[in-house]
Amino acid sequence: MQPVERYQRQIAFLGIGSAGQARLSRARATIIGVGALGTAIANSLARAGFGFLRLVDGDRVEVSNLQRQTLFDESDAAAHAYKAEAAAAHIAAINAAVATEALVMRADSSSIDKLVQDVDVVLDGADNFDVRYLANDACRRLGIPWIYGGVLGDSGVTMNVLPESGPCLRCLMPDAPEPGTFPTTETVGILNQIVAVIGNLEAIEAMKIVVGSPDVRRSLVSISLWDASFHETMVERSPACPVCARL
Ligand SMILES: [Zn+2]
Repeated sequence: MQPVERYQRQIAFLGIGSAGQARLSRARATIIGVGALGTAIANSLARAGFGFLRLVDGDRVEVSNLQRQTLFDESDAAAHAYKAEAAAAHIAAINAAVATEALVMRADSSSIDKLVQDVDVVLDGADNFDVRYLANDACRRLGIPWIYGGVLGDSGVTMNVLPESGPCLRCLMPDAPEPGTFPTTETVGILNQIVAVIGNLEAIEAMKIVVGSPDVRRSLVSISLWDASFHETMVERSPACPVCARL
């Protein structure tokens, strides 16, 4: 059981309260990809007192990750630590009451159901569309909320994919862009500030879902930080969506 004093300032917030905090302490989340977005999300959910975090990533920490992957430090890069394991170690130091499961692997079609089926919410920390569509399709099929997020340059987007209503990622974009047709962080860079913004938008939606808030966001949010632009767009469930059509 987690000490209540630790969360006093969060419990004082009207949207959480004691009942919400108790729900958070029992909440289970899977974070797919523990790089830039994934470390921002994991840090936020660990400090907020989520009960269990499953961390899925097959990569190791590199020194070039440290500019934006905020759970890692120079010793992780020097040791070429696996990101999932290094993140779990840092979470243990931040909040020992959070149970973690560090999985050094890349999510694929044979593993995705097991990664998502026993949690309350799935959060997108992936750096590629293949994994996002896997998560989208599996969560849609299994009726699990998942939160899409992507970042590039100074810009990012995020959208909740909720079982009961609203669109999924394929309603928004039926298929992944062809490799090579879409800019990547290698070609246009990535600022850590947009990672923090989108990661925390994902995290707060996960909190709202867990506490049963009526304020779970229904829109797609698009943000560009360099010119300080913030847009919300309502996306409808598409009648042509191959995933939603089967529900
Ligand atoms: Zn859909």
